[in-house]
Formats: sequence, C-alpha cells, structure tokens
Amino acid sequence: MPRPARYARDIIESLSVKYSNAVYDTKGRGDDLIVLSAGEANFDIPLFGFDDLPMPLLYHYSHTRGIPEFRVLLADHYQRRFGVTIDPETEIIITAGSKIAIHMTFMAILEPGDEVLIHEPAWASYPEQVRLCHGRPVRIPYDATIADYGRYITDRTRAIIVNNPNNPTGRVVTRREWQELHRLATAHDFYIVSDEGYSDYVLQPGDFISAAIDDPDKTHTIVCNTLSKNYGMSGWRIGYVFTNADLLFNILKINQHLITCPATILELYMARHFHEVLAITAPQIRDVVLKRNAVARMLEDRGLRVLPGDGTFYLFVSIDDSELRSEEFCTRLFQERGVSVVPGVGYGTSCDRFIRIGVGSESIERIATGIDRIMQLIQETAVPKGATHQPAL
Ligand code: PMP
Repeated sequence: MPRPARYARDIIESLSVKYSNAVYDTKGRGDDLIVLSAGEANFDIPLFGFDDLPMPLLYHYSHTRGIPEFRVLLADHYQRRFGVTIDPETEIIITAGSKIAIHMTFMAILEPGDEVLIHEPAWASYPEQVRLCHGRPVRIPYDATIADYGRYITDRTRAIIVNNPNNPTGRVVTRREWQELHRLATAHDFYIVSDEGYSDYVLQPGDFISAAIDDPDKTHTIVCNTLSKNYGMSGWRIGYVFTNADLLFNILKINQHLITCPATILELYMARHFHEVLAITAPQIRDVVLKRNAVARMLEDRGLRVLPGDGTFYLFVSIDDSELRSEEFCTRLFQERGVSVVPGVGYGTSCDRFIRIGVGSESIERIATGIDRIMQLIQETAVPKGATHQPAL
C-alpha cells in the first residue's frame, strides 16, 4: 500500500485543536465542562444580513488579492490604529484565515533546510508550518532573551517568527525589542514574520507596536493578521498578510494556486460592516483584557506563577509544583475535574511545566472554580519534599 510522505506523517497534531475537539464531544454529550482551553473570545456581534450584498458577485470568485474595498479598509485600519502605511493595491492580500497566510509566507521565503527561529512559548503550528515547507524550526527556550539569540543564528537562518501579543503569554513586544530584532534581521539578512493576530487585545492603544513600524518599506518584514481573534470571527476564516510588493507578489502566486480567494460573500459583508464590527467589539475586547488581568492577579494571589504579559485573553501558568508533565496534568484535569486547559508542551518542549488558560469563554465565577480545581490537582500531585522533577524529554 502506498504511504503518505514522511514529513506529513511526522507532523504533530495541534494540541489546542485536539483539546477543542474533546470539548465539542464532551459538551455535545451534555456534560458540564469549564472551558479554559478556547483559542478565541466569545463576543456578542449581531448578524447584519446578506440581503443587500451585490448579486450575482457574491456567488463568484473575487480578486485573488481580496476585494479592493476591503483591502482599503484594512490598510486604513493599520494606518489609523497603528501608524503603518500599506499600499492596498500592491502590498496586502486577504486570505482564508491567517494560518494559511503564515504558511504561504514560509513557502515564499524558505529554501529546503532553511532555519526559522521560534522563541518558546510559541503557537504550536509555527514549527509544523516550517517543516511543511521543508525548513528547520530552531526553538529558543522560554527563559532566553533577545540578547541570547546570537547563539541560535546561523548562516541558514532565514526568518524569525514573532507573535505579538503572544499566544500563550499575552506578552507585548516593546519598541526597544523591535529595534533589536530589526538590527539582527538586517545584520544577518533574515526576515521578520510578525503574527499580529491579537493586535487589538492591548489596553493602551500605543502599547501595541507593529513590526512594520521600524521597517516602513517592509524590506524584511511580513505581517499576518486575522479577524479570528480580534473580532471573535474565527469561523469566517478571514485573515490578511502584508509586505513589500515584490515579496507579496510571490505570496500571491502561491495563493492563486492554493486558495484563489476567501469566501467572496464574507469579504463583501466585511467591507460593508467593518467599522460597525470594530465599534461593537472594542468595548468587549477591553472587558476581556481586563478580565484576563484580574485572573492573573487571582492566580498570583494563590501563589501560581504566571509568565509576564498583559495582552490577549491567555495566561501561561506554571504547574512546577506538580510532579506531572503538562499533558498528563491536562488530561487528568479534564477527565477527573471537568476543566479543559491546554498543555504547555504544545508551545514548546521548554514549556512542559506550564498550562495555558484562556478567559474568553467563561464567566469570572466559573474561571475561579476552574482555578480552584487546578490548585487541588497541583496539591494532590505535588512534587514530594526533597525530590526533583524528572528531566523534561
Ligand atoms: N496565530 C496564532 C498565534 C493563533 O493563535 C492562531 C489561532 N489559534 C492563528 C495564528 C490562526 O488564526 P486564523 O487562521 O484563524 O486566522
């Protein structure tokens, strides 16, 4: 019998998606579950209707860069909100979600064997996406700083992927850090791929800095973003990517062969209602970030260590006092105590003593109950006094 290619067989299943599927199954049976594993926030967004969208356009393929009106709105959004100038004609493509935008970016910049720096904790799909392009993910452990990156840069380093703000810590990249990253990228001639999918989950507007600020011509900077997280519209599968016109044209050709365009009807809908969606979600985003920061204080008050961060709706919490590794911890928490969280190992091998908590889909009261159950499991599985952990695999 023929076999699938080795690289496809070697791809690791996404742990956060695996947990989401387990949540669907459990909830589908009607069981109560405290869901702290969700990768999105639940917002109240009305359905504006599709009846006034142009017929028969909405039934057909759209421009493979995305419909022009929506490109203009997205470029305008980045200009007004973040001070980044994008030419909507040549520098941006609307894609079917940002996952494929990141993947097409890697396809456009990696030769087989090229290396991509990934500072943990990092979203589980980055290393797999690099591998799917026959590249080599180079993982930097979570406790390293940018000053340590020199150790990981080689003459095969082709890119670094940065998630700002970060899933799972909520950490926001500072101006100084961006300047240092751009200096490294220029000195070693590699790209910065900036995944800005949580850009709006930062309370002070000036605190989020796009990677393109320090590279206005986008010579070595590629930015991906999405409606999934910022506006709670993950099911619509609309993302976008922007960079310099030459590189973008290469990504466009890949897009033409893989996707063609996102769903035209949804692009048309967004072009018509983008500003309303922004206005409706802005206060809800603010509430969820405030909730996140209240939960961070709750965790710290109970003596749990949370990695630094103040954006997004995620918290990356240490379970160092338990002798369990993160997958076993999460499986037991799910099966024995009805709380779903995501194992830290999904964000890198250096993170196997962490779990990710998302606060986007439960009330503060239920989150507090979930944290009590996490505390109980840590206490019941505490590392015996005087003993040390088994080394991480
Ligand atoms: N980047 C990060 C960091 C994410 O967390 C996610 C979704 N979990 C994505 C990209 C993909 O988002 P989408 O494809 O829905 O735009």
